[in-house]
Amino acid sequence: MSTISIDQVEKTIDITCDTVIRNEKYFSDLDGLAGDGDFGTSLATGFKVIKKELPEIDKSAIGAMLLKISMICSKHVGGSSGPIWGTGFMRAGMVAKGLEELTYQNLVDMLGSAIEGIVARGGAKRGDKTLLDALWPIHDKMQEMDGSDLGAVLAAITAEADKAIDETRTLIAHRGRASQVGQRSADTPDPGIVGIATILYDWCKVYGVDYSPNAKELNR
Ligand SMILES: [Mg+2]
Repeated sequence: MSTISIDQVEKTIDITCDTVIRNEKYFSDLDGLAGDGDFGTSLATGFKVIKKELPEIDKSAIGAMLLKISMICSKHVGGSSGPIWGTGFMRAGMVAKGLEELTYQNLVDMLGSAIEGIVARGGAKRGDKTLLDALWPIHDKMQEMDGSDLGAVLAAITAEADKAIDETRTLIAHRGRASQVGQRSADTPDPGIVGIATILYDWCKVYGVDYSPNAKELNR
């Protein structure tokens, strides 16, 4: 099985920055349907700093790179997203400490650790309509697969995030700002889930993995 190099991790983070920056307005508009409309701007503000600093960031090991990105998120991503994304990158970075390349199992463990950290931080449960409702099924799917074909894994986890958009669309949010409007959140997608799905779908496009999305938020 092939491993993932530090250069590939860097390239994928750079692609992610482009996705977040390009969708700044769209993600904020989605958040504005039930929340305070800051999600896109909060995330893009931080990822603009990541994009700018990425060429200079310590890349002696994948863990060190992710910990630096975690610090940028905590400092520059605004609103409730800063601690969530900062914690996610920090916990993934702790698992990748000292590693110069990643096995598939490392990736699965990094996501598992990121999820644990985000849960500990925000206390969200399944069905609370947060980005965890995309991350949990992605992690489950990754554990089912052996990772021998990373393109197949990417298509499969993009499908999980895509499905999570529609499966949670009609739920009432129980965490975050959207929970304060209760019923008004009940016919809008969660912007965090759409964010994860959009990032993964862009990875598919850049890496030449065929995927046809279902949710209308991915068919724009
Ligand atoms: Mg918001």
